[in-house]
Amino acid sequence: MSAIPPAADQEKLLYKLVIQFLIFSQGSHKLLEPHLIQIGKRLKSGASLHELTPELLAISKTLLHISKQTEPSKKENGSTQQPAYLLQRLDELLDSSDVPLRFQQQKAALRQRIKANADDSTFNKVIDSAVALLVDIKDYAVSEQKDIGGFLSQLTTQLGEIEQHVELVGQSSQLSYDQRQHLDLEINQQLDDIKGCANEAEELTALKTITSDHLDRLMMQLMEHKQLESERQLHAQQQLTLMAEKLQALETETEALRTKLKIEHDRALCDTLTGLPNRLAYKDRVDMEANRWRRYRAPLSLLIWDIDYFKPINDNYGHKAGDKTLSLVGQLLLNNCRSTDFVARYGGEEFVMLMPNTQAIQAYAMAEKVRDMIEHCGFNYNGEKIDLTISCGISEFTDGDQHDDVFIRADQALYQAKQAGRNRCMIYQNELDSPNN
Ligand code: GH3
Ligand code: MG
Ligand code: MG
Repeated sequence: MSAIPPAADQEKLLYKLVIQFLIFSQGSHKLLEPHLIQIGKRLKSGASLHELTPELLAISKTLLHISKQTEPSKKENGSTQQPAYLLQRLDELLDSSDVPLRFQQQKAALRQRIKANADDSTFNKVIDSAVALLVDIKDYAVSEQKDIGGFLSQLTTQLGEIEQHVELVGQSSQLSYDQRQHLDLEINQQLDDIKGCANEAEELTALKTITSDHLDRLMMQLMEHKQLESERQLHAQQQLTLMAEKLQALETETEALRTKLKIEHDRALCDTLTGLPNRLAYKDRVDMEANRWRRYRAPLSLLIWDIDYFKPINDNYGHKAGDKTLSLVGQLLLNNCRSTDFVARYGGEEFVMLMPNTQAIQAYAMAEKVRDMIEHCGFNYNGEKIDLTISCGISEFTDGDQHDDVFIRADQALYQAKQAGRNRCMIYQNELDSPNN
C-alpha cells in the first residue's frame, strides 16, 4: 500500500498534470484553443495552480459543451464524433475556398450533400468526392499553369514580332505622318482592348481567345501597313536609282562639256602660231591689271612691239620664214620678261607687253635689253642669215587713264620709234620721266 503524498506534493502532481493536459489538448478542438493559449501565457508568467482556477473552470465548461455536442453520434454507433466534425470542417473549408469557375457547381453539390445530414454510409462517399474534387482542382491548376507558361511565351513571341515590325515601320523615314498616326491609334486601340479583356476575363481560355483575336488583327494591320510601306519604299528607291543614274549621266555630260569648253576657251585665248596669249587674252588681262593699278597705285607700263620690215622677210624668204620669225620673236619676248609680266601677240607682227610695278623708264631699260638681244640673236632661215630687228613704244598708266589712252600713247611712241629709224625703244614723248625728253 502506498502512502498518501503530502499536500504540497499533491499540488505539484496536479500542476504537472495540468501542463501535460495542455500539451496533449493542443490542436484537438478549436473551442479549446483560446483557453489553452490563455493558460499557457499565465503559466509562463509564473501563475500558481490556485491562480489558474478561473481558466481551468472555463476549460472544464468548454469540455462539457464539446462532449454534449458530439453525444448523438456516440449514441448511434458508440464510436467517435469525428464524421460529423469532419464534415462540418469540410463544409467550412469549401465555403471559404475560392475554387475555379468550372468547379463551382461540383462544390455547391458537395456542400448540399454535407448539409443533408449524411449517414455513415454516405460519409465515405462524401469524403471521396471531396478528395476527387480537390485532386481535380489541383490537376487543373497545374495544367492551367502550364498553359499560362505556353501562352505567355507565345504572347512574348508575338509581341516581339510586332515590336520588330513597329521598329521597321519607325525606321522608315518615308512613312507619312497620317499613316503613322492611324497606325498608332490602331495599335493603342488593340492594346487597350487586350488590357480591358485581360481585366475582365475570368478564365484563361476566354482571355486567350480574345487576346489572340486582337493580336491577329494587330498583326494583319501591321502586315498591311508594311506591305504598303514596302511598295512605296521600293517605288521611291527605284525613283532614287533612276535619279542617281540621270544625275550621273548629267555629271558626265557636264564634265565633258566643261573640258570641251576649257579647251575651246584656252584655244580662244591662245595664238596657235607663237603659243602666246592672243589679243582676246590680252583684253582680259589688261582689264585686271588696270583695276589693280587703280586700287594699289603701283606703276604699270604698257609696251607695244613691232617687227621692223617684216613684210620684206615674208617677201624674200617666204611665208614660212615669216612664221618662224614670229614664233622666235614671241619666245624671246616671253623668255626675257619677268613671270609677273604679261606678253601677248596682238596681231600680225605686233606684240603687247604689260609690266606691273614698273615705271616707264624701268620698262625702257628692260625693253632695250630685249631689243638688243633680238638684234643679235643670229636668226637665219635655211642657213641664210636674216637681219631681224624690232621697235617698241612705251607708255605708263597715269591718273585718270583708261586702257585705250595708254595704248594710243604707246602706239604713238612706237610710231615715233619707227620714224626715228627703227630698231629702238621709245617712251611716249610727253611723259615727264621719258629719257627722250
Ligand atoms: P614696219 O617696219 O614699218 O613695221 O614695216 P613692216 O613691213 O613690218 O610692216 P607692214 O605693216 O608693212 O607689214 C606687216 C606684214 O606682216 C604684212 C603681213 O603680210 C605680215 N603678216 C601679218 N601677219 C602675218 C602672219 O601671221 N604670218 C606671216 N608670215 N606674215 C604676217
Ligand atoms: Mg605692223
Ligand atoms: Mg612691222
